[in-house]
Amino acid sequence: MTDPTETPERSFESNPTVCPFCGVGCQIEYAGRGSATGVEGPVNERGEICPKGAAAFDVVDNDDRLTEPLVRHDGHFVTAPWEEALDRVASGIGRVVDEHGPDAVQFFASSNCTNEENYVLQKLARVLGTNNVDNCARLCHASTVAAMSERFGAGAMTNTLDDLSETDCILVNGANPAEQHPVAFRSYVLPAVRDGATLVHVDPRANDTTEAADVHLPLRPGTDIEVANAIAAVLVEEDLVDEAFLAERTTGFDRLREHLADVDVAANAEAAGVEPAAIREAARAYGEADRAAIVTGMGTSQHRCGTDNVHALLNLALLTGNIGRPGTGVNPLRGQNNVQGASDVGGLPGVLPGYEPVTDAAARERVAAEWGVEPPAEPGLTEVEATHRFGDEVRAAVVFGENPAVTEPNATAVASAFEELDFCVVIDLFETATAAHADVVLPGSAWAEKSGTVTNTDRRVMRMRPNADLPGNARCDFEILADLGRRLTDRPEAFDYDGPEAAFDELTRVAAIYEGMSYEGIGDGYQRWPFSERDGTGTDVLHAETFATGERTAPLAVVDPVPPADDLGADELTLTTGRVLQHFNSGALSRRSERLTAMRGEDVLQIHPDDAAERGINDGDRVTVSNERGTVEVAADVTPAVREGVAFCTFHYPEPLANALTGDALDPEAKIPEFKHSAVAVEPTAEGDALAERDAAGAD
Ligand code: SF4
Repeated sequence: MTDPTETPERSFESNPTVCPFCGVGCQIEYAGRGSATGVEGPVNERGEICPKGAAAFDVVDNDDRLTEPLVRHDGHFVTAPWEEALDRVASGIGRVVDEHGPDAVQFFASSNCTNEENYVLQKLARVLGTNNVDNCARLCHASTVAAMSERFGAGAMTNTLDDLSETDCILVNGANPAEQHPVAFRSYVLPAVRDGATLVHVDPRANDTTEAADVHLPLRPGTDIEVANAIAAVLVEEDLVDEAFLAERTTGFDRLREHLADVDVAANAEAAGVEPAAIREAARAYGEADRAAIVTGMGTSQHRCGTDNVHALLNLALLTGNIGRPGTGVNPLRGQNNVQGASDVGGLPGVLPGYEPVTDAAARERVAAEWGVEPPAEPGLTEVEATHRFGDEVRAAVVFGENPAVTEPNATAVASAFEELDFCVVIDLFETATAAHADVVLPGSAWAEKSGTVTNTDRRVMRMRPNADLPGNARCDFEILADLGRRLTDRPEAFDYDGPEAAFDELTRVAAIYEGMSYEGIGDGYQRWPFSERDGTGTDVLHAETFATGERTAPLAVVDPVPPADDLGADELTLTTGRVLQHFNSGALSRRSERLTAMRGEDVLQIHPDDAAERGINDGDRVTVSNERGTVEVAADVTPAVREGVAFCTFHYPEPLANALTGDALDPEAKIPEFKHSAVAVEPTAEGDALAERDAAGAD
């Protein structure tokens, strides 16, 4: 007889699926003994994976997983049956909608969940009557998408990862693919470098990518425009532009040339803190290459001028004709495994599935024909804007697989703002920092427990297949969201799906870029958007004959530098933040893994030896990092890898909470926060504080 108190053994099986971490999209499967192995896939053609992928099952079979719904009673969570928990959600959200209208609810979609789940979530928001739905693409590449959509008509990689191995020059701006997209770096970037391509790395910090670079421009954070404009000025001055391309495929060259004539390369180099000769070397490498590709990351995009930063980079591609051909283009590397897809399927407040603007009446009508309800015409709130209005015009939140109390800038203030809500439901695997503020927490499914599709960084839609059953009474995310759709809206039949494939089929009818795709067509491979059966697997190189705007030409843009929001005090350093190879974003997945935490067990603050000496800081010392938004304590890593005047903090652990220090300034167009430039004071942690901390930790 089975003991009902005994936790049943989980069952695992091997099925090719997609790694839950970065946007490269390696295929992996269960390999027994709690491990994943790489399997030959569309991106990792030889089955290679990185340390994160190998540890991907640690989060699935984790003792801290939520296995029962939690509802708050008298300030404390108690377990509850699903019916009771879902009823609480329906009544909590329903009351807010009745009293304040649907725009008083904010939906957080998840860039770590499937296309089908995100499609259903954004549909739920819109059928309820609000466009207040956003995902953490807002925090990483919203500015890249804004600039590329405006100029080219599509905010995604113009080319493919495979293409990078065919290029003659790769300009990596504000990204560290060697650590953050390791398989893409090793499989596509390094082979190009070994074949003679020049690698230019624009980054305030020397890291693993820099080791492979021919030219490193260690710019001051916030001076990307100065550097890109200086490179553009050299391209024009040294006649490295593509006159034929400029004439046929661009507009506005005369105006830009006039603007660049006033750019003083030496002065821009000085402002950026780099050598003018290095800027010229970078410009010549990029301008003289037959095929040159730009790879861009969050070092470029996460500024209050992130959109302008990207505009300045797009100029380089257009000036030199490096767009619309294999081995060229502008290629944002996406972070989460489905940040591209969560946006593609409409998890954004201004666009419907397939990036049709919500303001476009014809687009709304097309969606209404499928849903039976027309989405609202007013763009909704971004997730950062929404947290700034919690308790005011926003009174409820549905948080699906995200942890905004940790990942938003000025995070301590955001966590407090959650307390201002009338109702909050969180769907997640763990009791996250955000779940601590919820009224109801619903235990969802991990990546290895779900079916569906994700879209990787180079627009490839690939299938996810279950490798494990669900723990306890956790449920599939797709079922939870469809159930909420039936309970929260007056169109329950619109959420009656016969599984994720039915939702995907609906998506292909609603989003033109996915039209013609199918689970069967994707199979063990992929289909790439924009898809057409004529092209086999989809369109590899965008903008070849015409831009995605439908125009033959794209405009060149005049871009002026924008000062950062934080003024730097005399003794302050510029704080910038980022990731390391062994961990991923807020660490929600990676720090649950013993093998990954054994490799990197804490966050550190990198500080230059001269800045450390000035402050009496030695390598390994505890330091206090503070500004008017918060104070954190962290171990110092004294290293010349980070430039003088700059401190770099990783953000993978809840303590120290690096985002307690980042600010509220937003890019005016993309509403992306300025994560990469915060003024901070850094000083040794007072001995008394350090002793108290050690005592609290139980140290000898
Ligand atoms: S490179 Fe990215 S997708 Fe591939 S195994 Fe590593 S984390 Fe996963």
